[in-house]
Amino acid sequence: MNAQPDRFDVIVVGAGIAGASVAAELSTDLHVLLLEREPHPGLHATGRSAAMYEPGYGPAVIRALTRASRAFFDNPCSPHIQHPLLTPRDVVFIARDYQTGTLDQMLHEIGQGLSPLPINEAHARMPLIREGYASAAVLNRMTADIDVDALHQHYLRSCRSNRASLVTRADVTALRRRGGDWQAETPQGTFRAPVVINAAGAWADQLAVMADAAPLGLTPKRRTAMIITWPQGPVPDDWPMVVDADEQFYLKPDAGKLLISPADATPSAPCDAHPDEMDIAICADRIQTAFDVEIRRIERSWAGLRSFLPDGNPVAGYDPEAEGFFWLAGQGGYGIQTAPALSRAAAALVRRTPLPADIKAEGVTAEALAVSRDSLRRPG
Ligand SMILES: Cc1cc2nc3c(=O)[nH]c(=O)nc-3n(C[C@H](O)[C@H](O)[C@H](O)COP(=O)(O)OP(=O)(O)OC[C@H]3O[C@@H](n4cnc5c(N)ncnc54)[C@H](O)[C@@H]3O)c2cc1C
Repeated sequence: MNAQPDRFDVIVVGAGIAGASVAAELSTDLHVLLLEREPHPGLHATGRSAAMYEPGYGPAVIRALTRASRAFFDNPCSPHIQHPLLTPRDVVFIARDYQTGTLDQMLHEIGQGLSPLPINEAHARMPLIREGYASAAVLNRMTADIDVDALHQHYLRSCRSNRASLVTRADVTALRRRGGDWQAETPQGTFRAPVVINAAGAWADQLAVMADAAPLGLTPKRRTAMIITWPQGPVPDDWPMVVDADEQFYLKPDAGKLLISPADATPSAPCDAHPDEMDIAICADRIQTAFDVEIRRIERSWAGLRSFLPDGNPVAGYDPEAEGFFWLAGQGGYGIQTAPALSRAAAALVRRTPLPADIKAEGVTAEALAVSRDSLRRPG
């Protein structure tokens, strides 16, 4: 019997994709506790995403982590995964006359996987694009839908089979360093470990303040999405996702319906985000301008927070000023597609070992993820 049932090697705060994935990686040989404030894991950003794998999306570090995640997505080798995690879905970026420069820049900067698409072919692939709206298009064929729930469940079940503990309704309300351990106070009890991983999503800066560590200037940004029906019947599942060149909107098939978004990024305090009526109206206007779609009824709408650090890259590393306090935050709009590689990288850094070779080979370095990197000067 464990003499100290409340003492662990590592406490992970937050059971979204970030916390669940790093807990799964570490619990192979460490005694790990995963604490989640909500009654169920995945109620915040993780359960509200657009579920895309888009290797051309985001800054270079994100693109490298996304590429490094592909091998796992294609071949997860997990007893907890019964179906493919990725279902191919092309992405077509469309531009009006004044936006064509953005597409040229995209082709130049990202290159791999992207190719110009004649506008008549864009219409053939997605007949809903309004005639005369767009003048140029770019195709990305390396993109896919992600089964987010299956990925998240794989990590949570791996934690269970590795004998990690998950405690829900366990809001961490105080974090104190005592005698070489962190003490995490929750309504479910006080738990101790020498290492705490901050995977609190939009709340990561708040958790740091609790631990007397300086915040990193994380900004949660609200993004709205909604499901509409297509009056003509079920939407063909082989239609691509269509994204505005300047990311002012997107539309993709979703189980016979259409998922649409105004691609909003409104700064917000960390909270249980809800859609704003104005964003819904803006979304309807942009979608009905660009597509031959009449929005009669919004079946469901939601909003979630995508949390960004000032330089746009995630952080995975120990805080140099708070012993044993490890950050895993700032995944922005890419936390699902990067989770397989970021969690392995984070687990290596928690153990103070080198990054896995395949992740390094894509150009990811510990320095680029570190709290102390130059581009992440702490506010104040
Ligand atoms: C509309 C939308 C579309 C998106 N589309 C995509 C996409 O297509 N592809 C992609 O890769 N990414 C996408 N994202 C981004 C992705 O969802 C996030 O990057 C990812 O889910 C972040 O995961 P997380 O675990 O860090 O955060 P979360 O899922 O928010 O988890 C953090 C958890 O920490 C818990 N917590 C916080 N504070 C405490 C505390 N004090 N005590 C205990 N628990 C605490 C919270 O309850 C929460 O469950 C999208 C996001 C949104 C909102």
